[in-house]
Amino acid sequence: MKITVIGTGYVGLVSGVCYAEIGHEVVCVDKDSAKIGMLQAGEIPIYEPGLEKFIAGGRLADRLSFTTDLPSSVRRSELIIIAVGTPPLPNGEANLSYIDGAAQEIAMAMDGYKMIAVKSTVPVGTNERLADIIRSRTDEPFDSISLPEFLREGTAIYDTLHPDRIVIGAESEAAAHKMVELHSPLTDQLMVTDIRSAEMIKYASNAFLATKISFINEIANICEKVGADVLRVAEGMGRDRRIGPSFLKAGIGYGGSCFPKDTKALIQIAGHVDYEFKLLRSVVEVNRDQRFSVIRKLEKCFDGQLAGKTVAVWGLAFKPNTDDVRDTPALEIISRLLDAGVHVQAYDPVATDNFRLLLGREGVSWHGKAMEAASGADALCVLTDWEEFAQVNLGQLQASMKRPILIDGRNVFDEENMLNTGFMYDSIGRPSLK
Ligand code: NAD
Repeated sequence: MKITVIGTGYVGLVSGVCYAEIGHEVVCVDKDSAKIGMLQAGEIPIYEPGLEKFIAGGRLADRLSFTTDLPSSVRRSELIIIAVGTPPLPNGEANLSYIDGAAQEIAMAMDGYKMIAVKSTVPVGTNERLADIIRSRTDEPFDSISLPEFLREGTAIYDTLHPDRIVIGAESEAAAHKMVELHSPLTDQLMVTDIRSAEMIKYASNAFLATKISFINEIANICEKVGADVLRVAEGMGRDRRIGPSFLKAGIGYGGSCFPKDTKALIQIAGHVDYEFKLLRSVVEVNRDQRFSVIRKLEKCFDGQLAGKTVAVWGLAFKPNTDDVRDTPALEIISRLLDAGVHVQAYDPVATDNFRLLLGREGVSWHGKAMEAASGADALCVLTDWEEFAQVNLGQLQASMKRPILIDGRNVFDEENMLNTGFMYDSIGRPSLK
C-alpha cells in the first residue's frame, strides 16, 4: 500500500519505518525541514534503539522516503496517517491545532479517494471534527479511521512490530477491512470498533496505567512508614492474574509526553460532559507529589540544609532508553534543588542535550560519565532506571563522593548489596539503610 505519514516525530517516524519494514511504500512528511534534512542525510533526529538500522533498511529497499512536500505525498498515497503532536494546553486540554492544520493541508491536496487515519492521541469526537474540516474544503471522497498508537518510547520498534493489539475505529466496513489487512502481518489481536470508542480506548488505557503507577507509589509511601518492602508487596500482588505484575514499580512517578498530558486531557474530556473524574484527579495529584519524595529524603539527610550542597543526578529523561525529556520528573526536581541553592552535577546517557535546553538555567554542571557526575558530591540521586546505573562499582562510587549518600528514586539498587557498602541508602517504599 502507498502510505503517507504526516508528522515524523517519535510515533510517526517509528510507524512509517515499520510499515516500510512490512513491505509498504511509505513517505514520512514533516514541516520541520531540519528534521527532514537530517533523515534525508541518513541521520536520526531522535534516540530510539534499533531505529537507525530499520531506517537504513527501508531506504535501501526504496520503500521509505522523507519530505516536507505534503501535497504531492498525499496525492500519491491511498492511506494518510496523521501522527502530529497533540500537546497539552495550559488548562490540560489537548491542543488540536496541529491536527486541524494537517486536516486542512490534506483537504487542499486531495485529488481522489483517501483513507485518513488518526494515530495521534485525540479527544473523543476529533475524527468527526477532522472530517468536517476536510468536507468543508473538498468534495473528494474519504473515510476517517481512528488508529490509536500504544508504542512505548525506548522499545518503540519492538512494540510496533509486536503489538499487544491494534485498535481500528471506522464507520466504513471497506476501510476497516483494508486496515485489518494492513495490520494482520503484525498481530491477530485486531479490534474493529466505532471511532468514538477507539478514541476513548487510548485515553482509558493510559489513564489506567497511570493509575497503577500512582497506586503502587502510594502503597510504597505507606510501606516506608509501616516497615514493609514495596518490591515484595508488588511481587505478591502481581502474581494475582487479575492484577498482573506490570506497572507496579514504585518510584518517583510517571513522566514523558503521554501519561501526564493524556490523564489531564481525559479529566477535561470528562469535565466537558459534566463528569468529574475524581479518581484520575487523585492519580495526577499523587504523581506530582511523588517526584518530590527525592527532595524530602535529601532534606532529611541534611537536616533541611540543602543550600551550598553538591548533589549528583543520574538520569534526566523520564525513563531509560530515550532522549525524550517532555514532562520528565527530573525537571521539577532539579529546579527545586537549584532554587534551594544546591549545585547539581548531572548525567544521562542520551538525554543531556535535550534536558539542558529544557531547563534553560545555570547552576548545573553536565557530565559525560556517571562516575564523573558523582565525583565530589554530597549526595547522589538516581532518577532514571538505566541498566548502566545498576552495574556501577559501588566501592568506586563511594570513594569518589564527598559523602556516601544515595537516594534511589527508581529502586535500581539491590538492598542486600547496599547493606554491604558504607552508603546511607534511601529508596522508594523500602526501609532506609543508615
Ligand atoms: P512529536 O512532537 O515527536 O512529533 C510530531 C511531529 O509532527 C513533529 O515533528 C512536527 O513537526 C510534526 N507536525 C506537526 N504538524 C505538522 C503538519 N501539519 N505537517 C507535517 N508535520 C507536522 O510527537 P510524538 O511523540 O510523535 O506524538 C505524536 C502523537 O502520538 C501525539 O498525539 C501523542 O500523544 C501520540 N502518542 C505518542 C507516543 C509516544 O510515546 N511519544 C505514544 C503513543 C501515542
